[in-house]
Amino acid sequence: AGEKAAVLVLGPPKKIIVEGLAEDFHVHHIFNPKDVDDAWLTKHGASIVAAAHAGPPGAVNAAMMDRMPNLKFISSFGVGYDHIDAKHAATRGVTVTNTPDVLNEEVADTALGLLLSTVREFPQSERFLRAGKWPGGDYRLTASLRNRTVGMVGLGRIGKAITRRLDAMNVPVVYHTRTKQPDVAYRHYANLVEMAKDVDVLLVITPGGAATKNLINAEVLKALGPDGILINMARGTVVDEAALLDALKNGTILTAGLDVFMNEPEVHPDLIANENIVMFPHLGSSTKPTRAAMEQLVVDNLRAWKSGKAPLTPVPETPWKG
Ligand code: NDP
Repeated sequence: AGEKAAVLVLGPPKKIIVEGLAEDFHVHHIFNPKDVDDAWLTKHGASIVAAAHAGPPGAVNAAMMDRMPNLKFISSFGVGYDHIDAKHAATRGVTVTNTPDVLNEEVADTALGLLLSTVREFPQSERFLRAGKWPGGDYRLTASLRNRTVGMVGLGRIGKAITRRLDAMNVPVVYHTRTKQPDVAYRHYANLVEMAKDVDVLLVITPGGAATKNLINAEVLKALGPDGILINMARGTVVDEAALLDALKNGTILTAGLDVFMNEPEVHPDLIANENIVMFPHLGSSTKPTRAAMEQLVVDNLRAWKSGKAPLTPVPETPWKG
């Protein structure tokens, strides 16, 4: 006792993470990173060798890293790690891991659910039924997925799990990424606006962060056009929310399906008021088995590192050098 290395766990008290790490580490669990303040860092900063992120509200930021001189490892929950300054971590010799792959199929299921819900207005038609409106006449006819081409914005691990589903549904697919993939048969567009002109659905599944901020802007939405549908499964930051609100108000595009938002969990009141769009509260990976697998991977990365082995899933900015 007292000999275990200290780990700072930030975020919600996820059971598998907190209990799994307690076997090997002395765990400091803090929900809100705001509470990792000057007094706390003065007392504990030097003892912390690793951190685990269990999800919002936050992460070890660059300033906190600088106050933890012995920090060597950040094990983060979720495949997206735009909340971590991984470049700063790299300069400090801190390895960052995320939880890729274990959630691909789940997030792809959610993406298809959101796509179908948005095109076919399933949530709205259910509200119609519950409101007792059916005896007054059938629900209105909706748009269809049948006559649409889906333009994937991002075609990585999750994007490919989504397009396998679209293939099975006989929905044509094209994609935009920065790099054309030689082993992929779908048409590649180097230019996002050109792709938006040619498709009826944009399905966004890129990372967040500076490189993709406002990638879906007013010009892209205009190119998508009045029959166009935007599905955002990526991060709120990837879509210029003001431009989207304008496009929905003016009929520049038909509708949108959103799983992620600029200031989530706060959602813009004009989006809430818009009954035509479909919104999910960031449900991508949120099932019991998939979240358990993600939590376990947070633990397994830290355990591998602690026992001197290579971590399982380091992010590209901090490759494991042994
Ligand atoms: P990958 O790294 O496997 O794939 C990312 C894809 O995005 C690649 O095809 C990449 O291609 C493309 N991309 C990256 N930057 C750009 C850019 N600037 N412009 C165009 N395309 C770009 O990631 P995953 O598939 O594992 O995950 C993708 C993201 O999905 C996560 O980072 C996260 O933000 C989000 N996500 C959301 C969830 C939810 O609950 N809604 C759940 C899980 C993930 P290239 O590098 O060639 O440009």
